[in-house]
Amino acid sequence: MKIKIENALILPMTTPEASYKGNLFIDDGKILSLKDIPFFKPDKIIDGTGHAVMPAFVNAHTHLAMVYMRNYKDTQADLFAWLNEIFPIEAKLVSSDLYAGSRLGLAEMIKSGTVTFADMYFFQDQTAKAVVEAGMKANIGFTFFGDLADSKKRVKELLPPLLPYLSDQIKINPAPHAIYTTTEESYRYAIDMAADYNTALNTHLSETKKEVEDCIKEHGTTPAFYMEKLGLFSKCSSILAHGVHLTDAELDMMSTADTSVVHNPSSNCKLGSGVAPVRKILSHNINLAIGTDGASSNNNLNLLKDVNLACLLASVSTGNPVELKPFEALKCATYGGAVALGREKESGTIEKGKDADLIMFDLDRPNTTPVNNIYSAIVYSADAGNIDTVMCRGKILMENSQLTTLDEKQIKKDAQKLWEDIKNR
Ligand SMILES: [Zn+2]
Repeated sequence: MKIKIENALILPMTTPEASYKGNLFIDDGKILSLKDIPFFKPDKIIDGTGHAVMPAFVNAHTHLAMVYMRNYKDTQADLFAWLNEIFPIEAKLVSSDLYAGSRLGLAEMIKSGTVTFADMYFFQDQTAKAVVEAGMKANIGFTFFGDLADSKKRVKELLPPLLPYLSDQIKINPAPHAIYTTTEESYRYAIDMAADYNTALNTHLSETKKEVEDCIKEHGTTPAFYMEKLGLFSKCSSILAHGVHLTDAELDMMSTADTSVVHNPSSNCKLGSGVAPVRKILSHNINLAIGTDGASSNNNLNLLKDVNLACLLASVSTGNPVELKPFEALKCATYGGAVALGREKESGTIEKGKDADLIMFDLDRPNTTPVNNIYSAIVYSADAGNIDTVMCRGKILMENSQLTTLDEKQIKKDAQKLWEDIKNR
């Protein structure tokens, strides 16, 4: 299908200066041209008057179907007290819960401008199925907990149903949960699996002070050096969620590795875990992406809120109001996410030949009038409600603020009903 977006403010997100007022041409799901093409006959014209068009967000760390546990026992002393509340209810989840929960999460993500995400949860085939039906893209984390026997059991039971979904649309990332829940043997097993699939390993790392202290006690070193010892940085690429307590020595070591840190500011604030050293990460030439984490520790999947918070937290934690500038934070949430997910050749910027993964902000609203700086307007003034059009690989997933591939009403009803059932199991 040929689509022309007319008279919009286009933000390619390659450089701040690359923005222009004009048209964008899409053909067969790809960006065909940023320059006007004579004789282009669109099948569809989207009026971009009063709108900004930018690459869709990439949510680089989430646990999609945790939407069930949104606001559930979420005021706990710390990460570990909260996990003690969450693990028992998660143990009750069955495969069909994951499908309905994933659909709810996807609806929320599309409505807030995300079309690609890195997940880490259970019954992965159910999430993959929901993603394909919604017309989105995902890196599905194949989660490991516990010892090697447990990991091998997961591969035997949960991998075969996921394999048929693997494609350009659905990628796999072996995902050992964290150092404090997964043994050394399981990590080594997951690292080898990532190398075999030529994909990234996705794990939580250096989220809390306690995790770092316990890691030193148990393994004699800090989390990133422990990962280095296991061969993570030499055998495969990696997506490291949180990185709040990474040391200068760890960042120096990681600067030559193919690794990404995912900043999860809302979750880190909510669980009191601390503030990730974003400027230090960037200045070490380490890719920085942004994630929402699960909706039970955030408590939403709206990445724009995390972009906003990333800027505010960087300022308040350093006393420097330009520590993380709006363009830079938006770049982390688009291109940075694409790099983390190994998708930078297909998404993250608006460039000729890339997938048409696009979102449109309606700027003709009170909260975005007047626009004096477009990147500040998006990060500090706009909210998800300004996003009215969302596209993934040229397929329109939301138009006039209405979802086109998902039945929002039914999804909310199904999830509500299942959650009542899960609690009573
Ligand atoms: Zn997480």
